[in-house]
Amino acid sequence: MRIVFLGAPGSGKGTQAQRLTADFSMVQLSTGDLLREAVRAGTPLGLQAKKRMDAGELVSDDIVLALIREKLGSPELRGGFILDGFPRNVSQAQALEPVLAETGQRIDAVVLIDVDLDILMKRLTGRRTCSVTGKLLNIHFSPQAEIDACLQAGGELLQRADDNEQTIGNRLRVYREQTEPLVQHYQRAGQLRVVDGEGTADEVYARLVNALGLRAK
Ligand code: AMP
Repeated sequence: MRIVFLGAPGSGKGTQAQRLTADFSMVQLSTGDLLREAVRAGTPLGLQAKKRMDAGELVSDDIVLALIREKLGSPELRGGFILDGFPRNVSQAQALEPVLAETGQRIDAVVLIDVDLDILMKRLTGRRTCSVTGKLLNIHFSPQAEIDACLQAGGELLQRADDNEQTIGNRLRVYREQTEPLVQHYQRAGQLRVVDGEGTADEVYARLVNALGLRAK
């Protein structure tokens, strides 16, 4: 199955995508992760992207499309994929169609993970990644046992550079102005499924699996 995840920063796209890929043979394609990787590796593309990412602004369509085009051709995506964080505006959505068509693919479902703004803020400021396991955690919401498991494995709780209050505010504004119009775009195309993104990760996952018509594992 080929899925697009829509949702504001902090709506749980990454967490849910990780779980879906673990249970079903799909690959998560997160443009945010690909860009962070390019920044870490210090590639020219990464250096160009970093300033805009640090400011919470979108990176140029050209850069992101180049990353996506390269990945979408790869054979490891045969079992399906989840686009997490892409497309981020209407022009990226329009550019995606011909890229998929080149490889004879099309999107099966677009899922909006819907979460209220005040909850998003708490999720984003509390978000951490375990340096050892890569697990996404939240200092406000994760069970203490999961946080302890990371620390006992010798891990550190890493915070993303763009998860500070000022950048978060900007990212939410950019979402409202540039990404939210995609909700209507996909609604008009009859592809949109809306999932209530509030509650525990398990609850949201159950709704998501149901909305996608998959059988829970
Ligand atoms: P994310 O991990 O999806 O929250 O993305 C982190 C940052 O990477 C965003 O704030 C943008 O600066 C950049 N980014 C990720 N995906 C895209 C995209 N599809 N288009 C433009 N910029 C993106």
